Amino acid sequence: MSVKHFPEFRLGKVLATSFTATLTERCGEPVERIPVPHRLVDWLAINGLVVDSCSDSQLDHARELRESIHAAATAVANQTLPPPSAVQVINDCSTGGLASVILSSEGSQEWRLGSASVEDALSVIAADAISIISGEREGKMDLCASPTCRAAFFDTSRGATRRWCEMNTCGNREKKARFLANKRQNSSLAS
Ligand SMILES: [Zn+2]
Repeated sequence: MSVKHFPEFRLGKVLATSFTATLTERCGEPVERIPVPHRLVDWLAINGLVVDSCSDSQLDHARELRESIHAAATAVANQTLPPPSAVQVINDCSTGGLASVILSSEGSQEWRLGSASVEDALSVIAADAISIISGEREGKMDLCASPTCRAAFFDTSRGATRRWCEMNTCGNREKKARFLANKRQNSSLAS
């Protein structure tokens, strides 16, 4: 019996951009991190959104929201208006589910989904996306400096100086590439 391995998740601090990071390397060789419905269920559970089940069409719906958030966030990072079609999908998802924010007994914020459906979970993600895309939250929308990634991320660092969607992946790769380029340059100067 072979066990199928799925790509790992890239989890960040911001729900909406963690969600858009379920597809990475959009401008290179894209990696789909929710290739099957149960991986979306896994991703949602890790992010505190526990759903009962997920069908193929619900996965398609989730990916449609994901790409709409990506398109709207990219537009805002480029200081243009989000495409109307993306706005429509985000708004439909936001209003198309039932979820309440609750205070846990430990004093942290948790989500209670109305019917534990994918639609409920997507409404939470859409609302989170609206909060960062609209500028309601402290931070700045930006695009990863990696030419094969170009993921939209929400920079909450002081002075908004972040360049990469993630230091561990895109940041390190870029640093390594620069190091090798310098080394090559130095060795050609030496010869
Ligand atoms: Zn990146």
